[in-house]
Amino acid sequence: MSDDAVPAEATFNRVMLKISGEALMGDQGFGLHPPTIERIAKEVQTVHDMGVEICMVIGGGNVFRGLSGAAQGMERTTADYMGMLATVMNALAMQSALEGLGVFTRVISAIRMDEVAEPYIRRRAVRHLEKKRVCIFAAGTGNPYFTTDTAATLRANEMACEAIFMGKNGVDGIYDKDPAEHDDAVRFDEITYDEVLAKRLKVMDASAIALARDNNLPLIVFPLDEPGGFKGILAGRGTYTKVR
Ligand code: UDP
Repeated sequence: MSDDAVPAEATFNRVMLKISGEALMGDQGFGLHPPTIERIAKEVQTVHDMGVEICMVIGGGNVFRGLSGAAQGMERTTADYMGMLATVMNALAMQSALEGLGVFTRVISAIRMDEVAEPYIRRRAVRHLEKKRVCIFAAGTGNPYFTTDTAATLRANEMACEAIFMGKNGVDGIYDKDPAEHDDAVRFDEITYDEVLAKRLKVMDASAIALARDNNLPLIVFPLDEPGGFKGILAGRGTYTKVR
């Protein structure tokens, strides 16, 4: 089916898109790469144009990860707060790219910084979604020792999203072993959260998995680097792995 043949009405009404901070860095290996951010923003725009209400969580690993800071002798919670601040920069960059395309957005921060982003107020965020504003949830959960996967799962539950879409670069789903290292790696079409935990597959951290599993929130892992991929996956096309 061509891209244009995707039905105008999507199969989902409200979704969470989770991408890692590294998705924003392009080939640079670090930081933010504006053309890459714009490309992702265009993917989001096409889904927004279908009338789907979109929540986003972007990681911070392209700038700072708490665990790496701690490994180099920093105090862990301070390092984690730095990681959370990195996600705010990424959220602002995505906001700028989306608004440049004419998509209205709100950056909603779990850590108060009123001059930069709205504070998180659940009912207000829901209202933004109803008004078709893309809500970019920044600063993770606002707590150290968590990851943005947990933040995405938490907000997806709070916002009553129907699924989390985890966009990946260079991989089209979940494999039984790393496909970059093993030619015989096999992709799962569908797998349960319990199997992900039992097989120790690196999909999301265990607290995020538990939160999604216990609230019956499906996770769809799909390739974000295929043009039209996000829109296609929402219409049930393309390759992906569904976790439930
Ligand atoms: N972080 C945190 N609490 C949260 C979310 C994130 O402390 O609720 C910190 C943590 O240090 C993490 C960093 O922010 O390493 C960046 O987030 P993450 O590693 O999830 O980013 P990604 O790997 O998705 O780019």
